[in-house]
Formats: sequence, structure tokens, C-alpha cells
Amino acid sequence: MYKKISAPLFDQFGFSAEILSAIKSVGYKTPTDIQQAAIPRILEGRDVLAGAETGSGKTAAFVLPVLHLLTRGEENAMYGHKKEIVQAHQVRALILVPTRELTIQIGQEVRKFAKEIDPWVKCLSVYGGVNIDQSIKELRVGTDFLIATPARFLELIKAKAVKFNQLHTLILDEVDRLVGSGFKEEVEQIIKYLPNKRQNLFFTATFPDEIRPLVRKVLDNPEIIKQDPKEKELIDQRVLTVNFDQKTALLADLLNKNDWSQVLIFCSAKRSCDNLVKKLAEKDIKALALHGNKKQHERRDVLKEFKAGNSRIIIATDIAARGLDIVQLPCVINYDLPRSPNDYVHRIGRTGRAGVEGMAISLISHHEYQHFTVIEKRNGLRLQWESIPGFEADEIAPPPPRRSRPKKKKGHKKLTKKQIKRRQEQGEDKPVSPYKTPTKKEPEKPAEKPADKPKHNAKPVPIPTGKPKKKRDDEPEKPRVNASIWGRK
Ligand code: AMP
Repeated sequence: MYKKISAPLFDQFGFSAEILSAIKSVGYKTPTDIQQAAIPRILEGRDVLAGAETGSGKTAAFVLPVLHLLTRGEENAMYGHKKEIVQAHQVRALILVPTRELTIQIGQEVRKFAKEIDPWVKCLSVYGGVNIDQSIKELRVGTDFLIATPARFLELIKAKAVKFNQLHTLILDEVDRLVGSGFKEEVEQIIKYLPNKRQNLFFTATFPDEIRPLVRKVLDNPEIIKQDPKEKELIDQRVLTVNFDQKTALLADLLNKNDWSQVLIFCSAKRSCDNLVKKLAEKDIKALALHGNKKQHERRDVLKEFKAGNSRIIIATDIAARGLDIVQLPCVINYDLPRSPNDYVHRIGRTGRAGVEGMAISLISHHEYQHFTVIEKRNGLRLQWESIPGFEADEIAPPPPRRSRPKKKKGHKKLTKKQIKRRQEQGEDKPVSPYKTPTKKEPEKPAEKPADKPKHNAKPVPIPTGKPKKKRDDEPEKPRVNASIWGRK
């Protein structure tokens, strides 16, 4: 007789009946791997360092047990069996995150559960770029959950808007990004204000060396949880080599010939996002841009439209690499590569979420080959570089892409009164114009020998088109999510 193996259930954790019914009402049936590993340790009160990518269910992995701990009745002797009530200016669970989008998204996740458990649970998201007075006002009554970006939170501390006598838990989400985007100092400063007795939970997609000092300083004998790399197989990673000047055409071709319901495209700069939106519009492909130059309400609207499924394509900078949670997002395209290998993981983590398969495509031109090799190496990847017929990259690198910069306005600089006076003193008897006349450039001498070399530094670059890289013996066969995806309609 075989023993029947049943799927793990949420009731194994000893959650209160309210938490279990909240989980049921949001439709989660079985805990994800990270939830199975982290929830029992958090409920025990242990500090945790968890390696978890976005899309793995990591938010619920900390929100659910912390909600359980904060809402159970027996916690506070002062109130007998009543639940502890948050006092003015106090915060009970502090969640620090690297982006505004993530503060909003985690806030939504907390509220989603909290409203089913106890409608009195308060939750507040605070971030820079908006008026601080509103947050100060909202903090007067205290909050159970405060989700904040570090710089804004430090401002609130300095404005004496927040107190920590009731602080139970500190959560750092996306620690690698917090440290990588220069928030380490702010986080360290914030920690100095917190009471020593507290539970600390760190979640990070990657484990770069830079996070080590913070981990050592803050976590007390933490339970270290690393996710099973099997999870990564949910994302089918593709690499397409293409000439730089063919990238947009290839992108348009991919968008037209694959029926992805929604696509998130990453560019490296704000201006590149806007340019790409325009270039696609010329090919009758509608896309919206999402980047830091957009006003907060514009960014919110773009995300809202995308999440509601009203727009198909977003072109974004790394601002969207974190905090964008669309469960059914089938495809992410790296039009430009991210600078850091860690960001590659975060970008592709926008797809293949919550058990749903997805595809991540990187379009790479000759000048990006070297960088992509570094990304692969740092992430322990060995991907097959392919090309699409009609868009194959040349063997010899074409001239490197020219970065177009906004042209400086030519014009006459206005002279100061002092300069006019000096010129007049120097004998200019004509009335002196207050504008400087641009000095004429000496005509350039012709080069002595005309160069017979090609104009660009055309080094032959090996193209791995179509040919699989040599496989390691221990490398498992990578399943293709949808092999027909490249097929023409
Ligand atoms: P996260 O990794 O926290 O960004 O979560 C990714 C997505 O997975 C979110 O949309 C969650 O609502 C969803 N999710 C989290 N846990 C579960 C679960 N146990 N079952 C189904 N979906 C889940």
C-alpha cells in the first residue's frame, strides 16, 4: 500500500481561525515554498534571513505570521485577553523597502488580509516625493503596520512623528536592493532609534557581499532560509543577439507575432523609455512609459491601467524591477540590459510568479555581449544565445551606438554690466551689445594622411547565433515553456 501524500496546507502552522479564514477568502490554497519554510520560524519569534525572489509569495510569508502575532489576544497582560491596541505615534511592525511602488504593494497585501481578520488593524505606507504633512497627521493615531522607504522614514523620525515603545517586528524587504541603492546608511540610522528587543526579518532576492555587515549587525542568530533553485525554472530565459540598429524592429516583430497578453519592457534610461514609446507608436504599437521623471500620480495611473489589463505594454526603467506584482504577466523583455547582475534577477522575477510560468527575453547587441556574460556568470546561468531569422546579428560589430544627447542651445550669452563697462573702457566706441558674440572656430587642418582604416573599431565578435553553448555534464535539460513561441503566425 502506498501512503497518500497530500499537499501542505495553511492549517499546519497553528494560525488563528481568523487568519485561516482570511487566507481562504483571498483564495490561497497551499503555502508556497518560502511560506512553508519561513512561517513556522517567524511564529516561533526567531530572526530570519530568507532568500526569496519576488513572485515566490514572500510578502505573505512575513505578513501572515506577523499579523497573527500582532492580533492574537493573549499577547498583552495590560489588556487581559483583549488585543493590544496601538497607541498614538506608535508603530508595531516596521517594514522598510527600497521603492515607493513596493510600499504601496505591501500595504495592499497587508490590508487584503487585515480587513478579514480585524478591521481595526491599521496600516500605513509612506514614501518620499509626496507631502510629508499628511503622513505626520496619519501617524498621530499610531499604526500597526508601517511600510516605508528609508529616507522618508528617517524624516518622520526627525519630525518626531513616530515612536517605538510598541515596536514588535522590523522587516527589511529586498535587503540587497536597499543596500545596493544606497539606503544602507539610512537603515543603520533608523535601527539606532529602535528598541533592542524586537524580532528582525530580512528578505532578499540575492546574497551579495554588501549585505553581510548589515546582516551581522542586526540579526540575532537568524534562521537562514534559501529557496530551492527549482523555482527559477518557472521563467524561461531567452537571449536574442541582434544588431543595435535592428533592436526596435525585432522588438516590434516579437510584440506583433506573439500573443502575450501583457509585456513589461525594460530600458536603461528614462529618455530611452520615452524614445522607445515613440518608436513603437510609429509602428502602431501602443505602450506606456514608467520612470522616475513621471509624476507620482502618473506612475500610479500607468500601473493601475496595466494591472487592470487596459494597457498591454509598459516600458520602464528599473523602477518597475521591484514592487510590480502582476501574477499573470507572461513576458518581460530586456531591451537594454540592467547594469547590475542582481537587477537582472529582479527584472525577470516580474514574470513566472506564484506558480505561473513566464518568459524573460534579453535582446543583446555586440556592445552588450561582454556585460551579459558577466550577468550570466554572476547568476550562475548558462543560457543559449539565439537569433530570430531576419534579425541575425552581424559577425563584425557594426559601429557602436551613438548616444544622442539633447543639443545645447547655441546663442549669445548675456554680458554682465561689469563686462559691458570693461569693454567700453577698453575702447569699444560702438554701443556694446549685452550679448557675447560667439567666437569663430579656426577651420580644422585637413589630416595629413587619410585614414584607410574603417571608421569604427570593428573587432570581429564571435556570434553564438543558434549554437548552444557547451553544456556542463551536470547541467539539467532546461524545459521550454512554450517552444512554439517563436513560430510565425
Ligand atoms: P510576492 O512574492 O509576495 O510578491 O507574491 C507574488 C504573488 O503571489 C502575489 O500576487 C501573491 O498574492 C501571490 N501569492 C502569495 N502566496 C500565495 C499562495 N500561497 N497561493 C497563491 N498565490 C499566492
